[in-house]
Amino acid sequence: MAYRITLIPGDGTGPELVTAARRVLEATGVAFEWDVQEAGADVMAKVGTPLPDQVLASIRANKVALKGPITTPIGTGFRSVNVGLRLALDLYANLRLARAMRGIPVCHDGVDLVVVRENTECLYAGIEHDVIPNVAAESIRIITRQASERIVRFAFDYARANGRRKVTAVHKANILKATDGLYLRVAQEVAAHYPDIEFNDRIVDNMAMQLVQRPYEYDILVCPNLFGDILSDLCSGLVGGLGVAPGANFGHDIAVFEPVHGSAPKYTGLNKVNPIATILSGVLMLRHLGERQAADRVQAAVEAVIAEGRSVTYDLKPARDDPTAVGTRQMADAIITAMQ
Ligand code: NAD
Repeated sequence: MAYRITLIPGDGTGPELVTAARRVLEATGVAFEWDVQEAGADVMAKVGTPLPDQVLASIRANKVALKGPITTPIGTGFRSVNVGLRLALDLYANLRLARAMRGIPVCHDGVDLVVVRENTECLYAGIEHDVIPNVAAESIRIITRQASERIVRFAFDYARANGRRKVTAVHKANILKATDGLYLRVAQEVAAHYPDIEFNDRIVDNMAMQLVQRPYEYDILVCPNLFGDILSDLCSGLVGGLGVAPGANFGHDIAVFEPVHGSAPKYTGLNKVNPIATILSGVLMLRHLGERQAADRVQAAVEAVIAEGRSVTYDLKPARDDPTAVGTRQMADAIITAMQ
């Protein structure tokens, strides 16, 4: 039986990346029936909303989606489709992985970090308004016990299920005493139920510095929404950049897999950007579906192609203008060949 999966190509470089990932996933021999759904700016122009109801209905029915990045207008325009989708489906946990791979030049060897980002509240609740237009504006940061508790539980459950040793709660409770004070108290309460997993906490600014200097002291970081968004990009930078960082969003019984990076619009249609983040998001999807062998095969092929260093995109070459860099399609071809 084929797995029926909602496939959202997204926009910008999304469609090329999703096509590359789809080809690699199909090359595993696992059967997929792709339910292709469009969302984003082009859809807005056609049907008046960037996130049509049928996209949500498809994900609700299929329970699993693979998604490309979607552009959000900056400083004006419609609300983020990515945030809208996570809120509409209550995809409360955003899992973002940053794992070093042989062949990628980095500052620290062996980095293996997991960022668990709360996905439904904090400044992303979207409660903001002009107090006086062009003079003052206000944004409200929401932190609740319920959302804090379930995200910290998710981090500890993930630690147990994946043999990880430590969870660090990241916060700014020295300044945000009400909101992050609550978040930190709840994290400490939840941690007490997991005596087998080490727990500590860090103030976010110190966390950023320590990740750059001593990333190997950390394992899983559990963060309110905005800090998780920022630190997960920082962690990607430690292992080679956004081109290699996969992610997933989990709700009660729905999972949407997508890279950490955005739509990288300046590279649209150039067959240039790195498909690894999207392909590894597909690997997370295979594991979620219970297709362990297929997931291991893709992972091994990705690692082999990167370690060899020949058929890789510009971002994984020692110099960004290296003329031997290959395109998105060619890197996917090399991974498919390495799987055979
Ligand atoms: P971005 O992640 O799209 O790109 C930032 C830079 O990272 C790029 O210029 C490029 O140098 C590098 N990069 C990103 N993806 C890469 C890849 N696959 N291979 C190689 N290099 C890669 O971030 P941005 O420019 O801040 O955002 C662009 C748009 O994407 C915005 O509209 C933003 O809102 C949106 N966005 C969407 C998502 C999502 O769909 N989940 C996530 C983040 C940003």
